[in-house]
Amino acid sequence: MIDFRSDTVTQPTEQMRRAMANAPVGDDVYGDDPTVEFLQTSAAEKLGSEAALFCTSGTQANLLALMSHCGRGDEYICGLKAHNFKYEQGGAAVLGSIQPQPVVNQSDGTLALADVEAAIKPDDIHFARTRMVSVENTIGGQPIAMDYWPQISQLCHTHQLKLHMDGARLYNAAVKLNVDIRDITRHVDTFTLCLSKGLAAPVGSLLLGSKEFIKTATRIRKMLGGGWRQAGILAAGAQIALDEMPKRLHEDHELAEYLALRLEEVEQLEVDRERLQTNILYAHCRLGKARELEAFLKQRDILIFGAQPIRFVTHLDVNRNSVDQLVAAIKEFYR
Ligand SMILES: *Cc1c(COP(=O)(O)O)cnc(C)c1O
Repeated sequence: MIDFRSDTVTQPTEQMRRAMANAPVGDDVYGDDPTVEFLQTSAAEKLGSEAALFCTSGTQANLLALMSHCGRGDEYICGLKAHNFKYEQGGAAVLGSIQPQPVVNQSDGTLALADVEAAIKPDDIHFARTRMVSVENTIGGQPIAMDYWPQISQLCHTHQLKLHMDGARLYNAAVKLNVDIRDITRHVDTFTLCLSKGLAAPVGSLLLGSKEFIKTATRIRKMLGGGWRQAGILAAGAQIALDEMPKRLHEDHELAEYLALRLEEVEQLEVDRERLQTNILYAHCRLGKARELEAFLKQRDILIFGAQPIRFVTHLDVNRNSVDQLVAAIKEFYR
């Protein structure tokens, strides 16, 4: 199968599988797993934070951040397109009694400062208490521009709000912008990073922030059933994702560029060049028929999500040859 649906489909590398088989482990609920401990310590250092927590997923890490910063009846400001608003089943509301206050995402993925400021509630008996702002980076594959961070951070500081960054694909942003990842993370209070997307670990995301914050998040994770035992088996794969995989992400970005060039040969598809910055490419089907295209490709062992626009994601387990096969099959579909 050639799979362009997401970078979550990446298989663990041979090196990861070997490390996982041989990992020293212990009961992580007691803080006894040396492989988890090492991952958390080295991640905090590498990513520029005081402490880190290894979590099952990005969804869990985001939920822990929300529930650590906000209590019952509080609210957070986020983008209308934010994963932690749109794609997490309203978990913050369901499990944390926390209200989302979404604002429009600008075309560059940011939340306009004026919109954020207007959404902050005054201290008034009618309103929920605004506690935090969440910004996603990358969002739809677009990195947030570096000059945005001091501005949003200043605004949050002025209003005593926590600033959280959903950095599921944060390394893609750092690679694209050619900056040290710590030059991004130093502007936010807390952030997440997915190890199981382009970084190819089988399972796991990191939540990062102050020691105090991570202590709170660890308590909540246990309450949510996320206390895990010999999790070092997973942390061993995640460690390689963190140490080795960021340096190859530029290959995914280059492959997405190649995919764009090839897809532009198909006149029935319109590639969204503005949003193509990293490893995610959107293409609008001029004739509709995205679902039919999905079914046609599936018969040829090629997987896409036939939404409109179609999203193609490049990753470790696809290459130029996969792109050529994809484009040939799409041309066959439209012939
Ligand atoms: C994938 C993703 C998540 C959630 O990660 P899971 O591990 O799939 O739960 C959160 N935020 C963003 C921006 C994502 O892309």
